Amino acid sequence: LAGYVGFHNLPNQVHRKSVKKGFQFTLMVVGESGLGKSTLVNTLFNTSLYPGKEAKELSGETPKTVEIQTISADIEENGVKLKLTVIDTPGFGDFVNNEDSWRPILENIEARYDAYLEQENRVNRKRIVDTRVHSCLYFIAPTGHSLKPLDIEFMRRLAGRVNLIPVIAKSDTLTEDEIKAFKIRILEDIAFHKIQIYQPPQYENDDPETIQENRDIISRIPFAIVGSDKEVEVNGKKVRGRKYPWGVIEVDNEEHCDFVKLRQMLIRTHMEELKEYTNEVLYESYRMQKLAGVGL
Ligand code: GDP
Ligand code: MG
Repeated sequence: LAGYVGFHNLPNQVHRKSVKKGFQFTLMVVGESGLGKSTLVNTLFNTSLYPGKEAKELSGETPKTVEIQTISADIEENGVKLKLTVIDTPGFGDFVNNEDSWRPILENIEARYDAYLEQENRVNRKRIVDTRVHSCLYFIAPTGHSLKPLDIEFMRRLAGRVNLIPVIAKSDTLTEDEIKAFKIRILEDIAFHKIQIYQPPQYENDDPETIQENRDIISRIPFAIVGSDKEVEVNGKKVRGRKYPWGVIEVDNEEHCDFVKLRQMLIRTHMEELKEYTNEVLYESYRMQKLAGVGL
């Protein structure tokens, strides 16, 4: 596929180290149900992580509480293994009272820090398993207006504990101009409420190519995404996308949406950085607060 990037493209040194240890990455998806979270995860890793999901949904049962689902898969690409864990948070937004629906999600993130802390405190620390959440995609409904109060509440609660990456869900339902204006509104809301979202760092001594690559990624935040696990035909060529009477929106076309840039950031250019930030800043601050008995 055009513009397809994979973790085998990581810088050599990181790559060699990680090949030996095996890649391990934990991603959480958060947002109202029906915004395309499960579809995006499938699109992102080009594999179906949700076998039998359809059957479950057809039963018409609405969970009474926010049920958190953890799915792990070993994915191989060009002989390189990635152990991917996805934490899906179905159901939120479906309840009459959504006020505290962020709580079990935050608790899940913190329980993973606790599990890590507990391992660090063991006598034998050789085999620490890192199950911490390395990034959290927050799905924003494509309303074209501004963030909902529940979005603001969620993001405020999660920011500071996890690398928060806002995405505009189902961006194929908005026009290019609507997306542009919506992105500005979202960033204004985020700034106004002082919500700390993940910012790819910029280093002056990076090579010009990396600097430009980073700028391109940053300029797309919040990523306007389109998910699809189906292939459609465009001029006799099969592509992943969504078909409309007026044409096809291609998932892997950078002019159609920001999916490629998001995938590039998560899996190619910033995977190690996201893990480092989780360890050195987010986890460290949780650990310090916990030890000091502050606000927990
Ligand atoms: P979830 O509840 O957030 O996990 O949402 P799902 O992934 O189950 O998707 C809900 C519905 O939205 C399904 O019918 C999908 O086919 C559809 N959907 C998923 N992603 C997109 C998208 O990017 N654009 C559009 N238009 N529909 C989508
Ligand atoms: Mg789902």
